[in-house]
Amino acid sequence: MTQQTERICILGGGFGGLYTALRLSQLPWESTQKPEIILVDQSDRFLFSPLLYELLTGELQTWEIAPPFEELLQGTGVRFYQATVSGIDIDQRRVQLQDGPEIICDRLVLALGGETPLDLVPGAANYAYPFRNITDAYRLEERLRVLEESTADKIRVAIVGAGYSGVELACKLADRIGEKGRFRLIEISDQILRTSPEFNRQAAQKALETRGVFIDLETKVESITQDAITLEYKNQVDTIPVDLVIWTVGTRVAPVIKTLPFKQNQRGQISTTPNLQVVDYPEIFALGDLADCRDAEGQQVPATAQVAFQQADYAAWNIWASLTNRPLLPFRYQPLGEMVSLGIDNATLTGLGVKLDGTLAYVARRLAYLYRLPTLEHKLKVGFNWLVRPIIETLSQ
Ligand SMILES: Cc1cc2nc3c(=O)[nH]c(=O)nc-3n(C[C@H](O)[C@H](O)[C@H](O)COP(=O)(O)OP(=O)(O)OC[C@H]3O[C@@H](n4cnc5c(N)ncnc54)[C@H](O)[C@@H]3O)c2cc1C
Repeated sequence: MTQQTERICILGGGFGGLYTALRLSQLPWESTQKPEIILVDQSDRFLFSPLLYELLTGELQTWEIAPPFEELLQGTGVRFYQATVSGIDIDQRRVQLQDGPEIICDRLVLALGGETPLDLVPGAANYAYPFRNITDAYRLEERLRVLEESTADKIRVAIVGAGYSGVELACKLADRIGEKGRFRLIEISDQILRTSPEFNRQAAQKALETRGVFIDLETKVESITQDAITLEYKNQVDTIPVDLVIWTVGTRVAPVIKTLPFKQNQRGQISTTPNLQVVDYPEIFALGDLADCRDAEGQQVPATAQVAFQQADYAAWNIWASLTNRPLLPFRYQPLGEMVSLGIDNATLTGLGVKLDGTLAYVARRLAYLYRLPTLEHKLKVGFNWLVRPIIETLSQ
């Protein structure tokens, strides 16, 4: 009797999902054991989100930071479905796709990431611009173009949240808009980049000051309208005219995950074991932003690309191990430090005993991300372009 091929279904093709799929396809399956691997994503492209800001400054192009899945998965044997996951039956491991087939699988991987909550203050859903994916970047680009082409003498931008995204956006946009820009960075706590090493925070503070970005600390957004933002600072409420509000605050899991009967934390993240198996569901794995995970040392891991990327290796290995009757490995997180872009040609980084800022940090950040891009083919294409483009630009001047 021939044994039926097992099926692994990965939901979400971001840092967690895509890298799990790629890793799974490289593991040493015996030819009789090789499972069918399916990757599902609502988008046709993977997004390397740490480089999303560079689309707005024209430093990078879409094909470099958001290559199509079809291209990345070529020759891997992984099947890709572009579809939105609309429901999951966890007992049957059955996935419903919007306008697509139902998929039943033996191992299910949940890697759908998070969403930006726009219902935290009145008006945000209608008037604020989130910045999380390619669609957000294109929408923001469109708005920036309209403002830049207008005859107004100032472009007033309010950025809500002085975490990484807020700080990086403020610096990049200040460099893009230049003289005409008036920037406010609004932060509810008493400092920017609250979780960053001091070196990066100071470099960011300096970069924001140099660019004339006004920082409102301990300030809460009360509401947003089409052309104004209302702020509260020490019980005093002020309404300020603005042309653009960008919202970078918060992450929460998608409703399709939140409604599942898993053990979840307050933010809706799914509790996993250190092996990345969902608690009480050993055939379902969860990783990345939607997972509430403690690693082998009992350390709570943050929701970052760095974590999702590292977890992908373990998720792939553990799925392979669980299908081939081998022991599973607990995830061991290795914090490698952090890199923050601070405008065009400028960045700061702290990690592995190194502290750098300025152009050197900018180059190191680019090289580190080049190394992290998916597939050798894509790295080579992008690396070649990064080397050759400046030469062509110099020659054509
Ligand atoms: C602008 C920006 C900059 C960032 N910079 C950094 C950084 O410098 N360093 C760092 O470590 N982290 C950074 N992060 C955080 C990092 O991107 C996330 O932590 C990481 O992407 C999480 O990986 P993930 O696989 O869980 O989710 P994601 O990478 O977000 O992938 C989720 C995937 O699921 C898909 N999806 C979602 N819902 C559905 C659905 N219902 N049906 C089908 N598909 C769906 C999405 O299209 C997406 O492709 C940044 C994030 C942003 C937004």
